[in-house]
Formats: sequence, structure tokens, C-alpha cells
Amino acid sequence: MPTPPKRGMRVHTRLMESHSYAMETTFSRSDARSVLRAKAWAAVRAQTQSLSSACTCVEDLPRIAIQAAQLAETALASIAPRAIENPQAIGWQVPDCKAGCHYCCYEQVNVTPVEVFALVAHIRSHWSEGRLQSLRKKLGTAAAKSRGLDHESYFAARIRCPLLNAEGHCSVYAVRPLMCRAYNSLDVKACERAARNASKSARERGVRTNGSIHGIMDGAFGGLKEALKKSGRQDFLPNLTVALHQSLEDPGLQERWLAGQKAFRQ
Ligand code: SF4
Repeated sequence: MPTPPKRGMRVHTRLMESHSYAMETTFSRSDARSVLRAKAWAAVRAQTQSLSSACTCVEDLPRIAIQAAQLAETALASIAPRAIENPQAIGWQVPDCKAGCHYCCYEQVNVTPVEVFALVAHIRSHWSEGRLQSLRKKLGTAAAKSRGLDHESYFAARIRCPLLNAEGHCSVYAVRPLMCRAYNSLDVKACERAARNASKSARERGVRTNGSIHGIMDGAFGGLKEALKKSGRQDFLPNLTVALHQSLEDPGLQERWLAGQKAFRQ
């Protein structure tokens, strides 16, 4: 559960006509992250519940994940002016992330099933058959190496995300999972060190992140997960590589998931 706002804090939120998410906030630095996280959680949960209860066919599924990501991105954009004007007020620290830098794409990525279905829909509609076959092969290898690993041993195994292209860019950037949107680093040198010391624990590797970005995406992920759980379906998948591989190899998987069966094996 997200941490509720503290007493005395002025927080005004509103859902706009477009169902996008906006907020005007006056809060102390220590409260900022938990409020943003709680609001993202609530907005995505509310939206996802209505979408998932109305959802009766597999064609609708990617829309749930895309809308959750849009809500989270809008929540993040709404604090950008405050981050520029008065970064200390919200504890804002500028991430050191750049296009083509992909140290974090060796992490195990937690996903919800609908995020996996959004990736499948994107890949099937945008990629050539040859490219799809090559991805299936890479996913098969990565899934076999990674099945059953926890976060620490996954990172230590240096399994490159099969969705990274040769130039080191995410090939599904527009529909990447919420946890990929969450991850950021305040210092690329820390990421380089972490890659060299991959067998150490995450605490020892010590990559510091912008907690506001992480908190909003994490809140959206929590809201999505909770809404799916309430609908009686599998809600959480620890390993993106395994889940995407299964979804591409098994044409009946989405129908079974929608019917409430335990369609994914992780
Ligand atoms: S989906 Fe994209 S951003 Fe996420 S780990 Fe894979 S390549 Fe990186």
C-alpha cells in the first residue's frame, strides 16, 4: 500500500476530461515521493479496474498497459515545472541516463501480463517476420538461462535483454514496461562499476536513483497489479524475458489468461 499523505500537507489532485492525471502540490521534500507514488497508484488502479472489467477480448489487453504508462508519464510531466523551478522542494535530482546507455538492461524486469501483451501486439504489428524469428531465438536462449533466478543472480548472470538492439537502444521503447521506465541512475560511473561488480549485492553495487521517477512508475505498477488481481487473473510476472517468450510461443496464452487460468509459468 502507498504511504498516505501526512497531516497538514496541501495536495490538490484532479482527473481531467481526458482521464489524464494532473496535480498541483505544495509539500515538503520528505512527503513528495510518497504522495506522487500514492496518486499514481490510485489513478492507474481506478482506470485499470474499469478497463479490465470491460475487457472481454484479447485485442483490448494492450490498451490497459498503454493507458497505465500514459497515466504515469503524465503524472511525471506534471511535476516537471516544479523540478525546474525548485528542485530541492521535491527532492529532485537529475538522472545521468542517456539514449544508448543500457547498463540497466541486464536487470531482471518485473511485469504484469498486460504489459507483456502490449509488447506482443507492438512486435507483431511493427516487426518483419525475419526480425520476429530472430527475437524468438534470442528470447529462448535468455529465458532458458534466466528461469528461476532471483534479481541478484539474474544481474550476476549478465543476461542482455533480448529487446536491446545492436546500437544499445530499446527496440520497444514506446511500449517498454513500467519497471523499465522506473529505473534511472544519478551517476553513470556507478552503473559502470555495478556492471564490473555484478556478482555483488544491489546494496553493495550502490546505484542511486531519482526516487520521484521511480516512485511514480512503481506506484502505477502497483495500481495495475492490484486491479488485475482483483479481476481474478494472474497479476505479477517476475521475469519479462520468460513471460515474453511464452507469449510469443503460445498462441492460446492470452485467451487462457483472460479466462482466469494460470497461463504463465515462471
Ligand atoms: S525492455 Fe527495453 S528498456 Fe526494458 S530492459 Fe529491455 S531493452 Fe531495456
